[in-house]
Amino acid sequence: MIQIHEGQCGLCAHFGEHVADQPQLIQIRLKGEAPEMLVEPCGLPENEALNLKVSVVSGCAGFTPAEKVQA
Ligand code: SF4
Repeated sequence: MIQIHEGQCGLCAHFGEHVADQPQLIQIRLKGEAPEMLVEPCGLPENEALNLKVSVVSGCAGFTPAEKVQA
């Protein structure tokens, strides 16, 4: 597991935005950590058009904080 910080893809609303397996993303946002090798498609329209896939510790200027998840 790897710690994720504000500004990184793992805590961005666009990380895996259109992927069905949302429970895993909820856990990542809740705990602030994720499997090191996890890669998901980015849902930011400009990036999605390029079929961009990002790791949890990637990032870009389109970072949009995901909704805070309560325990
Ligand atoms: S590439 Fe940018 S917009 Fe996409 S998930 Fe990462 S920070 Fe968010």
